[in-house]
Amino acid sequence: MSISISSSASPRIAVIGAGPAGLMAAERIARQGLAVEVFDAMPSVARKFLLAGVGGMNITHAEDYADFVSRYGNASHWLRPMLDDFTPDNLRSWIHELGIETFVGTSNRVFPKDMKAAPLLRAWLHRLRSQGVSIHPRHRWQGWQMENGKQIWRFSTPEGEKHQQFDAVVLALGGASWPRLGSDGQWYSLLTQQGVSIAPLLPSNCGFELPWSDFIRERFGGTPLKNIALSLTDIHGQPWCRKGEFIVSQYGIEGSLVYALSAPLRDLMLSKQSEKQPGKQSDKPAQLWLDWLPQNSHEQIISKLQQPRKGMSFANVLRKKLNLPAITNALLKECCPELDLHDHQAVAGALKSMPLPCPTSTRPLAEAISSAGGVTQNAVNEDLMLSALPGVFVAGEMLDWEAPTGGYLLTACFASGKRAGDGVCNWLASHSE
Ligand SMILES: Cc1cc2nc3c(=O)[nH]c(=O)nc-3n(C[C@H](O)[C@H](O)[C@H](O)COP(=O)(O)OP(=O)(O)OC[C@H]3O[C@@H](n4cnc5c(N)ncnc54)[C@H](O)[C@@H]3O)c2cc1C
Repeated sequence: MSISISSSASPRIAVIGAGPAGLMAAERIARQGLAVEVFDAMPSVARKFLLAGVGGMNITHAEDYADFVSRYGNASHWLRPMLDDFTPDNLRSWIHELGIETFVGTSNRVFPKDMKAAPLLRAWLHRLRSQGVSIHPRHRWQGWQMENGKQIWRFSTPEGEKHQQFDAVVLALGGASWPRLGSDGQWYSLLTQQGVSIAPLLPSNCGFELPWSDFIRERFGGTPLKNIALSLTDIHGQPWCRKGEFIVSQYGIEGSLVYALSAPLRDLMLSKQSEKQPGKQSDKPAQLWLDWLPQNSHEQIISKLQQPRKGMSFANVLRKKLNLPAITNALLKECCPELDLHDHQAVAGALKSMPLPCPTSTRPLAEAISSAGGVTQNAVNEDLMLSALPGVFVAGEMLDWEAPTGGYLLTACFASGKRAGDGVCNWLASHSE
């Protein structure tokens, strides 16, 4: 199936999915003086983008550019040309052009000055409309049908099913996390049926289920652990260690530090599942280690444990000498049941490297901040056009990349949206000659 170019002077161009990637594609097309229609399933556009602004919109990152690109892991090489073409600095200038100031916060994260997404989106939509972009909410793309040899795009709308024909289309339908905001991953089966190669959609930046005891669940569920570090060894034997904070939840662990390690931890768990075949033994458990005192050495902890205790209980020693919360003692008992509390060496070792219960599963994709997986690099050309569907381009979280939180997700969505929008213009220009 492929799109046929209409003979009319003005091609009919659609962007389906009005998140940051789709809107950026629409802007690029409109800037070339081409008419573009944007369709979205939801009653209003960019709902996930707006939600991202609720807790403070971290739109990009100001770290060294080589480090920035490396955050995309295996997809860094693929995304690099798109990011070079729309760097974090370019993104900031683009935001400034919309009349929104930005600032660099802690850990080099970049935010709009008021931390919100709504003013930015309002200014952007205003500019898009003034460029002639028309937006059709409540239009859910449902697939295709052939009519008189022509490929027809089917939309369900409140007025019933509508059939449309286009000369070029950008699909920017998001991943499959937070489906109630619109991106529900239903495109997966539609594109698979057309022979498009798609890596399975998996939770990224997600929480994990851990088999806590009833005691931990009931007494400590919801407790934040701050100024700690988590580490693991990934499937390639590479060590990962990140400092920060996370929450001991009723079902397991959640929060920014867990999200930062979620990709290697999830992949470890998946590799273990695939090893659960007769005759196969895993030597890499999906094991997380908790360092309660990353700022203190083993020796410093021992010297604090050796200070006079004046009849203090062990729990009080942890609290008063080491400034640790009540949950530390409870987790030491749960995670290190054999620990001799009189053995300072062993206690210091357990505090520096406490094995958490191995996660049993990720939390559902619907709850994750983002999705891993998606349309693979070999399914598209450099301009993000699907080889199985010439004239159809793909952008944003639909593509097979993942990144940690920190502004990397939105930056790649904008950059790939730009590439797809420019790709549409290039493709139409080359086909009208
Ligand atoms: C709670 C939360 C906080 C976040 N915070 C940040 C942050 O601070 N920084 C950051 O970089 N990233 C953040 N993200 C991630 C970021 O919001 C996403 O990566 C980004 O929105 C993805 O953009 P996209 O355009 O690819 O897809 P989406 O924003 O998901 O947009 C896809 C659009 O496609 C539409 N659609 C889907 N299917 C159809 C269909 N069949 N027909 C028509 N329309 C359809 C949807 O309605 C939706 O509007 C956050 C995510 C969440 C959930």
